[in-house]
Amino acid sequence: MNLVPVAYSEIRRDLMAGKRTCVEIVQGHLDRISEYNAQLNAFLSVYEEEALMRAREVDERIKAGNAGILAGLVVGIKDLLCYADHPSQAGSQILDGFQSTFSATAVQRLLDADAIIIGRQNCDEFGMGSTNENSAFGPVLNFANTAHVAGGSSGGSAVAVQAGMCQVSLGTDTGGSIRMPAAFCGISGLKPTYGRVSRWGLIAYASSFDSIGPMAHHVEDLALVLKVIEGKDGFDSTVVDEIASNNQPKKRVAYIKEIVEHPSLQSEIRDAFFSQVAQLKAKGYEVISVEFPYIEQLLPTYYVLTTAEASSNLARFDGVKYGHRTDGASDLMEMYKKTRDEAFGEEVKRRIMLGTFVLSADYYDAYYTKAQQVRRLIQEKTLDILAESDFIISPTTSSTAYQIGEKTLDPLQMYLGDLFTVQANITGLPAVSVPMGEDSVGLPMGFQVTGRPFDEKGILDFSKLINE
Ligand code: GLN
Repeated sequence: MNLVPVAYSEIRRDLMAGKRTCVEIVQGHLDRISEYNAQLNAFLSVYEEEALMRAREVDERIKAGNAGILAGLVVGIKDLLCYADHPSQAGSQILDGFQSTFSATAVQRLLDADAIIIGRQNCDEFGMGSTNENSAFGPVLNFANTAHVAGGSSGGSAVAVQAGMCQVSLGTDTGGSIRMPAAFCGISGLKPTYGRVSRWGLIAYASSFDSIGPMAHHVEDLALVLKVIEGKDGFDSTVVDEIASNNQPKKRVAYIKEIVEHPSLQSEIRDAFFSQVAQLKAKGYEVISVEFPYIEQLLPTYYVLTTAEASSNLARFDGVKYGHRTDGASDLMEMYKKTRDEAFGEEVKRRIMLGTFVLSADYYDAYYTKAQQVRRLIQEKTLDILAESDFIISPTTSSTAYQIGEKTLDPLQMYLGDLFTVQANITGLPAVSVPMGEDSVGLPMGFQVTGRPFDEKGILDFSKLINE
């Protein structure tokens, strides 16, 4: 069942040598989609005709010798990314019928490099969730075991790669949404440094945390896609250009004691992690244990700040400009209220209320300002660790994929599952998750590497050592 396809570089060699065509490759993925998607629910739209048409065009360019650097790469995009003249719904009913008039910068750059977009992928509504069960379009099932969740919020993107329905997915990560589903599905996923990839055309959840990144079986495919989508963009002033990477040999890595000793950590994951640590030591790495005094503050800081930002970002969905509008309102205020009540899901409403509360005049300093201060402390302490060590390593998640429905009744339990991933978003640092084998019932486990700002090359190269 676990068909790990070859990396794009090999596909490209065959394409350039005339041994395969883009049309055959696209058709191969479309066949997988027709075989599995009805059950797994990874794609919300499949652009069958269009993908085949583009494949024919790219085949012509290959013959003419002027194909782009991603020629024939078959990509799926998360439903939070805009793609001109295609639906984007953020996994929500509130954007019912919405089609963007422009493409996200990352999507446009893929198209410009001759990648082929095969469809739009299911996700938790507005990226708010850890299992893909908060989608208005129903959960995505894990291909390793369909009684289990895919992880979230980029669940459709992870399963599409896992089940061979596309070569690469473009996901988004605000608090682990690329890395967690990657870990649950046995694939790799990269959250770039905040400021590396333009957020233009990403439907915002928490703007100071959101990042776009690739998901794939192969780390080299992550690096290739990053190279295409990164870099300066007039539409997002937080993006920086051309960061020289530091090519110093990396020899020292740290793990956080409170993470690997955390009571929620499944023992098989702890064992697998320490067997990787032993292998790294055998390869000549110094692996040290460090203390991090703010473990208890990670999730509260993340959930106060992201809900605050979400309550502001989601104010624009009011039934006036786009998407769903209620039928039954007699005045404007009632129209706003009914539209939002009808079309936002439970979790989104919960977060808008939490965020509105922490921003309210009487509580602003106690929650929002305090969380900003703690965010700074977490950033400083994390950078202190990275001044002494090249990388921070950890398991990506404390457990393997939950059963469908296992956490849905208790939001706090659900939030606890994000403990190992949110640090990279609070700090803006780059982090990658790569597969670390399977537990005793065959569910995948993930290994996470976090690096210094803009050291994507460092973390990606290093992550190739895992499970080597
Ligand atoms: N599970 C986290 C949340 O619900 C992460 C979401 C994300 O990264 N988009 O907020």
